[in-house]
Amino acid sequence: MSCLFCKIAEGSIPSTPVYQDELCYAFADLNPQAPVHVLIVPRQHIASLAETTAEDRPLLGHLFWAAGEIARAKGLPAGYRVVVNTGKDGGQTVDHLHLHLVGGRPFGWPPG
Ligand code: AMP
Ligand code: ZN
Repeated sequence: MSCLFCKIAEGSIPSTPVYQDELCYAFADLNPQAPVHVLIVPRQHIASLAETTAEDRPLLGHLFWAAGEIARAKGLPAGYRVVVNTGKDGGQTVDHLHLHLVGGRPFGWPPG
């Protein structure tokens, strides 16, 4: 498996860990877009949200729970954003499902 985020989650490519458990691994984004920018990935390889199935529902819930836990630990009282870029139009560049947790500054809407 030549997937970048699989290798990061298993530890064969270095990263800065933020949170981990049996289902997911969270680490600092290499090119942060905000003072807090964490990526949360399932340990299981899933290419994108578009590839998820009904079987993945507990895992998807777990990933969002982890995002909330990390945000609470970081202390982001003014709020934050959780983003799942999906496919070409969604701006996804790494084909392993990941949640971006970004915070520490205000964000605009709609996205570009
Ligand atoms: P996306 O564009 O939604 O697919 O997001 C991919 C993210 O992965 C980008 O924010 C990149 O900065 C980040 N990224 C790419 N390679 C690494 C890496 N080796 N370690 C940490 N973050 C990375
Ligand atoms: Zn992968």
